[in-house]
Amino acid sequence: MDHRIEEMEEYAILHHVPIMEHDGINFLLDYIKTHHIRRILELGTAIGYSAIRMCLVDPNITVTTIERDRKRYEKAICNIQKFGLENRITVLFQDAFDVELNDTFDLIFIDAAKSQYIKFFEKFEKNLSQNGVIVSDNLNFHGLVHTDEMALSRNVRGMVRKLNQYIDFLKSNSYYETTIYDIGDGVGISVRKDI
Ligand code: SAH
Ligand code: MG
Repeated sequence: MDHRIEEMEEYAILHHVPIMEHDGINFLLDYIKTHHIRRILELGTAIGYSAIRMCLVDPNITVTTIERDRKRYEKAICNIQKFGLENRITVLFQDAFDVELNDTFDLIFIDAAKSQYIKFFEKFEKNLSQNGVIVSDNLNFHGLVHTDEMALSRNVRGMVRKLNQYIDFLKSNSYYETTIYDIGDGVGISVRKDI
């Protein structure tokens, strides 16, 4: 394994940055590879870990990724430079809700604030290519989505409720075929149907 990747993983543990779990990222990278994904939009860069790993799947991949936290944004820029990927990864230091994009993407990866997933989906689906896919991370929210609500703190309960609403939203959205995989922290794959 590339020491630069391990370095990011260690930084994430040390600084409590919620980067994708191993099984989850491997599953996503495999999906990107087998489906020949080229243009990716990511909501929630953090330190650039998933953006870099997705980019490394194929030299033709480009990633646009959005992060609103200055410290993480700066760390991401630094990590991306270490890999020499600054020409293929564009990091926007902005709140995703303030970003207006005209480009279309083969894959949109939603991994920002968990309570806003429906809003992210609705805002960015216009940027999804014809047969594009929307991938959502943390649908299990550390296993808590399947926990008895009363055992959770008020804050966490609210988040879990929102994620469950999002899962219902995905399942009932007839424009997409959604499968939720119990891999990593729960990964949703929503493929736009040909209609
Ligand atoms: N995708 C990363 C992890 C992202 S963690 C990886 O797996 O490596 C989620 C990040 O989303 C956090 O850094 C947080 O600051 C950012 N975020 C949350 N809400 C956001 C918003 N509305 N706009 C931009 N970034 C947001
Ligand atoms: Mg995540």
